[in-house]
Amino acid sequence: ARMYAARRSGLKREMFGYVEGGYATVLQRLRARLESAGVTIRCAAPVARILPTARESGGGVQLELANGDNHPLDQVVVTTSTSRVVAMCPTLSDDERNRLAGITYQGVISLAVLLRRPLGGYYVTNITDAGFPFTGVIEMTALVDPSTFGGRTLVYLPRYLTQEDPLWRATDGEIRDRFLAGLARMYPELTPGDVVASEVSRVRDVLAVSTLDYSTRCLPPLRTSVPGLWIVNSAQIANGTLNLNETVSLANLQADRLLAAATPVPGPGRNA
Ligand SMILES: Cc1cc2nc3c(=O)[nH]c(=O)nc-3n(C[C@H](O)[C@H](O)[C@H](O)COP(=O)(O)OP(=O)(O)OC[C@H]3O[C@@H](n4cnc5c(N)ncnc54)[C@H](O)[C@@H]3O)c2cc1C
Repeated sequence: ARMYAARRSGLKREMFGYVEGGYATVLQRLRARLESAGVTIRCAAPVARILPTARESGGGVQLELANGDNHPLDQVVVTTSTSRVVAMCPTLSDDERNRLAGITYQGVISLAVLLRRPLGGYYVTNITDAGFPFTGVIEMTALVDPSTFGGRTLVYLPRYLTQEDPLWRATDGEIRDRFLAGLARMYPELTPGDVVASEVSRVRDVLAVSTLDYSTRCLPPLRTSVPGLWIVNSAQIANGTLNLNETVSLANLQADRLLAAATPVPGPGRNA
């Protein structure tokens, strides 16, 4: 469903493409566009806490970075997963915190593998056989020219899993061994010498699962009880699967709502 949704066009004609350079190209271009519009971007600056500023001090929101820096702001839009919103925003009401904490996320553990030789030549192979440690084989170089990766074959082996899955406790080495053994079962001609490099990635909060009555009981509202603090995240996608098209559509929709709802808080030297 995600593959089809990501390729859906107004004409219902299947469209599929690859941006040369992948996410790096998209993010560099986005950065250049935003900076030329006057936006300041701070990378590697994790937010520790977001607190309301006392009304006597002009109102607004105080952003505390993990390195101790403080930024007084008029408005903050948090776009992380809901568990992180709960951790960062201690002054949300109990009802809001319970609603956000009640959202069930599906996670993913993925092994990226660089090989000396191609596999089957198929971009996506979905696997439903529970006997395999991963749920898909994504052979990127079936889609992207292998010269992009120095003539090597790039493969992703994702496993989507619940928060309780024991695989979270496995070491990177154990995951690597199990996944590569599974790949060798699918492609018996593959030898350990074909593996140039591999890297494990773990993401706990990937997909907010649409549980029963999700829209009424779980879906996080844009506006919070803290004046100037807003939430925009993919847990607000109730009628679609998680992909970049859905995420960008959500961002556009919420940006319009934000502009309509947010009233600037007067105060010297503040920015949003
Ligand atoms: C393995 C995998 C494969 C995927 N494949 C596809 C695909 O083929 N096609 C597709 O369309 N989509 C795909 N997706 C989905 C796509 O990645 C998501 O739809 C998209 O990234 C969601 O964007 P987001 O901004 O909501 O969240 P994210 O991209 O997760 O962004 C959240 C950001 O918040 C930051 N953050 C977290 N905590 C803090 C903090 N305390 N302070 C500051 N920053 C913080 C994180 O570093 C991160 O950059 C895939 C996802 C995964 C995990």
